Amino acid sequence: MARKRNVVQENQYAKEGYYLYKKLRICVTCRRKYAYKNSAQCYECREKRTAKQREKHNKLKVNSEYVEHRNKIARVRRKMLISNGLCTQCGKRNSREGKKSCHACSIKWHEYYIRGKT
Ligand SMILES: [Zn+2]
Ligand SMILES: [Zn+2]
Repeated sequence: MARKRNVVQENQYAKEGYYLYKKLRICVTCRRKYAYKNSAQCYECREKRTAKQREKHNKLKVNSEYVEHRNKIARVRRKMLISNGLCTQCGKRNSREGKKSCHACSIKWHEYYIRGKT
C-alpha cells in the first residue's frame, strides 16, 4: 500500500516539475538547457525525439517493403500454379476446370466462409 502511495506522489511530483520547467522555459526532458522556441524541450532533446520517431518510421517502411516483396513472391507463385493447372491454395492438387483451386480447398474455404458469416 505504501509503495502505491509513493508512486502516486512521484507522478504528482513529476507532473508539477513538468509544468514548472515548462513555465521557466527549461527543457522538461534533461532539465538543464533552455527550451527551444515553442517546444517544451531543448533543441537536442527535440532532435533526439524526432530521430527516434524517424527510426520508427523507417522500420515501418522496411516492413512495408518486406510485405511488398512477399506479395510479389505470392503473385509469382500464384501465376506459376495457375499456368501448371495446380490449386493456388494448397499448390499440390490439380485445380478444377475453370477454377483456381482444387475441390478439397474449395470445400475448406466454403466451410470457413460459412463459419465466418454466422
Ligand atoms: Zn533537453
Ligand atoms: Zn487445393
